[in-house]
Amino acid sequence: MMQNRHEKKQKLQTEKIGLGRCYRNVFFMLGKAARFLPGYIAVFCLFQIYCAIQVFFEFTYTVKILLDFITEGASYRQAVAYLLLMFALVLIKLVWAAWMENAATPRAKEILHRSLRMELYQKAAGLDLERYDDPNYYNEFVWSVNEAANRMDLILEDIGFLLNKGAYILISGAFFIALDSFSIFFILLSLSVTLLMNSYMGRIQFLRDTELKPVERKRSYFGRIFYLNDYAKEIRLNPVADRLKKEFSDTNKKVYPIVERYGKKIAAADFIGDYFANDILINAVYLGYLIYQTVVKEAFRYGSTMALYQNSAGLKHSLNDLAKALPRLEQHGLYVEKIRTFLAAESKMQSGGYSGDETFETLTLNNVSFAYGKDRETLHQINLSVSAGEKIAVVGYNGAGKSTLIKLLLRLYDVKEGSILLNGRDIRTYDPNCYRSLFATIFQDYRIFASSIADNVKMDVAGDGDREEIERALHLSGFSERLHTLSNGINTRLTREFEEDGVNLSGGEAQKVAIARTFYQYRPIIILDEPSSALDPISEYQLNQTMLNAAKDKTVLFISHRLSSTVLADRIYMLEKGRIVESGSHQELMNLGGKYAQMFQLQSEKYHMLK
Ligand code: ATP
Repeated sequence: MMQNRHEKKQKLQTEKIGLGRCYRNVFFMLGKAARFLPGYIAVFCLFQIYCAIQVFFEFTYTVKILLDFITEGASYRQAVAYLLLMFALVLIKLVWAAWMENAATPRAKEILHRSLRMELYQKAAGLDLERYDDPNYYNEFVWSVNEAANRMDLILEDIGFLLNKGAYILISGAFFIALDSFSIFFILLSLSVTLLMNSYMGRIQFLRDTELKPVERKRSYFGRIFYLNDYAKEIRLNPVADRLKKEFSDTNKKVYPIVERYGKKIAAADFIGDYFANDILINAVYLGYLIYQTVVKEAFRYGSTMALYQNSAGLKHSLNDLAKALPRLEQHGLYVEKIRTFLAAESKMQSGGYSGDETFETLTLNNVSFAYGKDRETLHQINLSVSAGEKIAVVGYNGAGKSTLIKLLLRLYDVKEGSILLNGRDIRTYDPNCYRSLFATIFQDYRIFASSIADNVKMDVAGDGDREEIERALHLSGFSERLHTLSNGINTRLTREFEEDGVNLSGGEAQKVAIARTFYQYRPIIILDEPSSALDPISEYQLNQTMLNAAKDKTVLFISHRLSSTVLADRIYMLEKGRIVESGSHQELMNLGGKYAQMFQLQSEKYHMLK
């Protein structure tokens, strides 16, 4: 427990960064917005400055002009000219503000959010799969994507606010100094206390949010389980719901002590920064000073006192607003640091740059070993080779390392030892995207997307020109019969996520749609990581047979638990605890009478019709 706390504290401390870096981070985000929409950002900044000038003229300067007119007797023409000028300034502001608020800003936000998210998604898609195995990285990624757009809005809001207040302070501050520069002391003292307290609060809030983050993620996970369709059946059929409810409740209980612990510090700082610095120091002490100077010392005329007090109220509020906004920037800077760290993350997997051969001849694994992160080895000394046109099966019990082997073949991870060669050349010397384009792959955990069947086969937006190819692919995967029952054919929307008349396919039907993807893509190597597990054994056997016939000229590598299909393979590799324990054709392995034969015997007792 002690150690845990110590580790947590250490981790939080490393997340602290200097003030300079915080402000640079804010400008980094502002720079991004300016790069996405330079015109809007320029107009937005001008608008804030214009508003400050207009407010100064409308209130402070009008008071002075009014008094001058009364005491010195201005001409009628002067008064009308001034009024017309004020009217024009206000009108421009109103029209400009209405346009900003209702047209320019909503459109700009949409574009800024989209551009920023696209950049983050692109970054995530280009990073090593290995990163997803690291919960810290995953936290940072989810957090960055969720927070980035919101932070950009807040930063723009605060930059606009600062420009507005800054411009106002410059103009009215000049007035203030001209009348009584000593009064500035009261304003600055109040400002320092507020600045200090706000900075302290910003850091405390950041520490609180960071500590709450894993708890919030856990809480939202449990929350999701109870409303997402994916879990609905399991929740209803198993006692797991009670356990999850308890975990949900326990997680919730962890939130309050954290909020309470930081809440006390935040409340105290807020009290000093707001009540003491503003109400006591300025409203009481400074007002006393003005009265003393005017009544006792007779240092100011009443007019000057009025002007000072009136001007000081505006200046005081603007400086206080500024004092609150600056630490907000600091806080934004801390958050942006995480987004920057995420964006700066380099892929460990280096591209060799070689754009590759169009044709496929051989794929060879030489003494390949692999471990996930610092875990123990998952694959040991694997030697395997696949030649063009071969049909290869990889079999083995759960956890033997079959999917890991596929991930290495696709270079989603790099081997720890040994090498994988494509046409005799190390796959690390290829550009990963070019290399992967040789494979059409369906994983165990494939996904059906809330879109049309056609889009789900093409895995992109399908057009009329794709119809023939898509229907051919669906026919080969055995989906034709079901397709004929759907009135909208390949344009049928899948899932009811967005469409009430969307179709929810059965597990087996969904698999056929997913498998059609491999028939649609003209790739030389097809990899099936047991996508047919939801099919009944006869359908699986038929599908594999169709698949192998349809892919006669292609290389097929498939993982299957059900050995009925392996009979059709040219060569079988049997994996156990990360090692290849047997390899050969079905007949050779049966003659060997080893692990494969044993597994096959056991299964064929169940599915004897397929023997
Ligand atoms: P199954 O038949 O159940 O799909 P498999 O033979 O495909 O199993 P793998 O998925 O390759 O086995 O897993 C092999 C081992 O590697 C297992 O012990 C698993 O827990 C571990 N493993 C798999 N993926 C990861 C990961 N991302 N991070 C850490 N360990 C992992």
